[in-house]
Amino acid sequence: MKRLPILLVLFSLISACGDSDRARQAKFFAFGTEIDVSLYGVDNQTAENTVDALEAAFNNVNNTWHAWQPSTLTRINDAIANGEPIQVEADVAAVITQAAEYAQDSQHLFNPAAGKLFEVWGYHQDNWFESRPPPSQESIDVWLHASPTMQAIHIEDGTLASDNKMVKLGFGGFAKGTAVDAAINALKQLDIENAIINIGGDLRAIGSHGDRPWRIGIRHPRKEGGMMASVAIDHDQSVFTSGDYERYFTYEGKRYPHIIDPRTGYPATETISVTVIHQQAARADAAATALVVAGAEWPQIAASMGIDHVMLMRADGQIEMTPAMAEQVRLIDPSQQPLIRQITTP
Ligand code: ADP
Ligand code: MG
Repeated sequence: MKRLPILLVLFSLISACGDSDRARQAKFFAFGTEIDVSLYGVDNQTAENTVDALEAAFNNVNNTWHAWQPSTLTRINDAIANGEPIQVEADVAAVITQAAEYAQDSQHLFNPAAGKLFEVWGYHQDNWFESRPPPSQESIDVWLHASPTMQAIHIEDGTLASDNKMVKLGFGGFAKGTAVDAAINALKQLDIENAIINIGGDLRAIGSHGDRPWRIGIRHPRKEGGMMASVAIDHDQSVFTSGDYERYFTYEGKRYPHIIDPRTGYPATETISVTVIHQQAARADAAATALVVAGAEWPQIAASMGIDHVMLMRADGQIEMTPAMAEQVRLIDPSQQPLIRQITTP
């Protein structure tokens, strides 16, 4: 106890040495959550300007892709529901094309055309956390029967059209990743080489923290405030986690989490948390969502999505991971024996 004040003084002296020789932290709000930015090797003025550019990048993604407040996306969805074609800007078309590619690669377990299903479950509204009965089997069957996927969407010469009026785009499964990639691109344009952009625990890190790698924590899905593992970042990597512990509602003692299995129309419950490491944040985000849905068959879906770093916790508490993940991750509880599973090609 007595040593603590001396250590603290030492630390503040070290961090005061040199203007650009330490990590700088900044926070702002976007996407209804806190965004933490860590920058290494920049001066105060650069750090301030950078945060403004990042805030703009995040707000742009949020305003374009918001699923239920008026946005570019809601205008597109209105046109699809009316069976009308609609003009889309090139950058908007690029994100939709990327969504279609991830959907295809995940064998449509990642299904960003399933907005109506997310709506049926009450996840496309501000009070999504309130207790309510689950939707009727009939309303789920109507959706399953129409089976909307990204394959119905066609974009030609800047015009988008859908073969299926039941398609409703909902990009919550990879919007954070898309925003993080946009933010990292903004940083690279400002010649910033060492940074972390962290959005509620999901992040992309580039460069390093001086002569050591960035090291980040992965939240434990069942221990409030506790960590499950830590990862040392290798130059430019995104770490995205999806699970059942942040967004869910309960009804009559049963938990209904927000990741929905498009094959059954019901929330996926076999896997409670999936962490994916991949360079591109958008693909890592989409893959984490897809692998929650995949359940025990996750190694095939990881293969088809081109992902080789996966760690997950099954509903029975067993941790599983790929050999590549095992090389990079350190579990906090050393008594946990992870099951190592190879990625299998389908
Ligand atoms: P978070 O953004 O909370 O980290 P995810 O990235 O896993 O979580 O995205 C979950 C969100 O994605 C849901 O709230 C819903 O909008 C949407 N979603 C749910 N199930 C799927 C699915 N099977 N495919 C694509 N998107 C999904
Ligand atoms: Mg996701």
